[in-house]
Amino acid sequence: MLDKVVIANRGEIALRVLRACRELGIKTVAVHSSADRDLKHVRLADESVCIGPPPAADSYLNIPAVVSAAEVTDAAAVHPGYGFLSENADFAERVEQSGFHFIGPRPDTIRLMGDKLSAIERMRAAGVPCLPGSGGALGADAGETRRAARGVGYPVIVKAVGGGGGRGMRVVRGEEELERAVSMTRAEAQAAFGDDRLYLEKYLERPRHVEIQVLADSHGNVVSLGERDCSIQRRNQKVIEEAPAPGITPEQRRSIGARCVRACEEIGYRGAGTFEFLFEKGEFYFIEMNTRIQVEHPVTEMVTGIDLVKAQLRIAAGDTLDIAQDEIVIRGHAVECRLNAEDPRNFMPSPGRITLFHPPGGPGIRLDSHVYNGYVVPPFYDSMIGKLIAHGDDRESALARMRTALDEIVIDGIATNIPLHEDICSDPSFREGGVDIHFLERKLDI
Ligand code: ADP
Repeated sequence: MLDKVVIANRGEIALRVLRACRELGIKTVAVHSSADRDLKHVRLADESVCIGPPPAADSYLNIPAVVSAAEVTDAAAVHPGYGFLSENADFAERVEQSGFHFIGPRPDTIRLMGDKLSAIERMRAAGVPCLPGSGGALGADAGETRRAARGVGYPVIVKAVGGGGGRGMRVVRGEEELERAVSMTRAEAQAAFGDDRLYLEKYLERPRHVEIQVLADSHGNVVSLGERDCSIQRRNQKVIEEAPAPGITPEQRRSIGARCVRACEEIGYRGAGTFEFLFEKGEFYFIEMNTRIQVEHPVTEMVTGIDLVKAQLRIAAGDTLDIAQDEIVIRGHAVECRLNAEDPRNFMPSPGRITLFHPPGGPGIRLDSHVYNGYVVPPFYDSMIGKLIAHGDDRESALARMRTALDEIVIDGIATNIPLHEDICSDPSFREGGVDIHFLERKLDI
């Protein structure tokens, strides 16, 4: 097993990684900004290193500082969590070149999947279903772009090859809008991502977001752990996730899972990964792959009983996967609500001191959070302060447990989105299951 791991992240995921390390007898190093000395995992870690001032660009995104921390503490590996440097191929490369294990895929895999166009083309070639699209970056010729859009059929969506976070994309409903949309998106893409390459694909009006979790070891063994439905989104940010996805049949799960597994085998994927799909009228369409642990991984853990973070650590240590595909069974249903320090009406961040904190409990309830009584939520980072997860024998009982827990939890001193979660979890359409990605926008408009 690995002897010592640097946790190159903060907040709930840093604590999640620390817990997994402790269970496996691995020593931990917390690297943190000067604003994060009081984080729970910093207090609990065997060692901690302050790597810079509060702005993420000077601390959590500072590659030399993170690598130096691994060097001075004589660590064996670096876990990047999600966000920050987790999908930065240059970082993964630096970590490996410096003699540490990067807990994630090989750098060239991260690079392949980070370029959306190469990711789609590679996945299409591997037999993963994708949307009809331009099949390459759009050139400067307007006539060619028009022909590409006509070939796909309106509506289409113009996307930046280097886009992320729901930015750098524009829906085009007819040819008269095309040229302007392309030039605006191109300018935005250049400004935001330093890459003005664009592509286009079919725009789906009412899809659901359904994604497949995979685990691959470094010996060519790959399993799929079923799907998550993440259709409850605001501005392309997930708010509630669940597993399994309502209405997906075991045959659909087996078939799409097998395609993802085969794709991983073909590209020599290593570690935990997620294939994100849009799902409409019974069909899956690949949009991108996340080459890291995801925020919503606990719902998969709850229904499969598999600890994904411990699996990541074991894979990085060179272990062979100790589960076979036919041993993976989906038991019951799990739902996760992302708890944010924000105003539930206007979504403005609400940093500050938590004056009173009472976690919920009871059967099937899990809280992944770094906050405690008196903890001060800093204003420098994203506003997520934890995740509340409920598991039950079926979707209805998982949601009943979630509603009970939301009612029970107390977080005073700052505003949180708990009222929004209560509202969604008692919404009749949501309770029925299978709503599309625009459900929350429609609901918030009323
Ligand atoms: P990002 O990397 O910025 O998250 P994605 O390609 O994953 O970008 O798309 C983000 C979201 O945009 C999707 O979850 C979906 O809500 C919407 N979207 C993207 N592509 C399409 C499409 N072809 N049709 C409809 N909606 C789409």
